[in-house]
Amino acid sequence: MPYKDREKQKEYQRNYQRQWRENNREKIKGYWQKFYYTHQNEVLTRKRRQQQQNEQTYEIRARRHHRSKIEILRRYSGEYPKCAYCGENRYECLQIDHINDDGCKERKITGGGENFYAWLKKQPYQPDRYQVLCANCNVIKRVRGLVSYNQGLETINEWDEWSKSKYIKTPEAIKEFWHKR
Ligand SMILES: [Zn+2]
Repeated sequence: MPYKDREKQKEYQRNYQRQWRENNREKIKGYWQKFYYTHQNEVLTRKRRQQQQNEQTYEIRARRHHRSKIEILRRYSGEYPKCAYCGENRYECLQIDHINDDGCKERKITGGGENFYAWLKKQPYQPDRYQVLCANCNVIKRVRGLVSYNQGLETINEWDEWSKSKYIKTPEAIKEFWHKR
């Protein structure tokens, strides 16, 4: 098959080039060093321009992300979004929580972080699936979801007592506990 041959040929070339680079490492290094000293200004200017461009791209992306995030937080919490559990309202730590803990499945479709908010923006309003939680409550929900299931553990002593008790599993109870109160 010609296709296979072409692939084989490409691979052969790649291997050959890699081998050559490995055998002539010093030569290549010398070449770049020489180039750098003779073209120092050009290299630096190009580097700086690249950096500025990167910063710009980063900032444009960041702004777009926060536009999406703010819109989503307001949709699921109100004009001044706050944690549905503890009322925390500092923007930086507010997150969208998957009420039914199916975020893992969904992230496979939507991608994480920025992509998730962009995706959710296009979805209809689903208050039974999403709510706003702060990062702390999100962690606490996850930890309790994994280990204690709405046994009302709050103080260190309650946790201490629980850690020495037997394992009981009631996922429904924790869902109820964490749903908007
Ligand atoms: Zn909270």
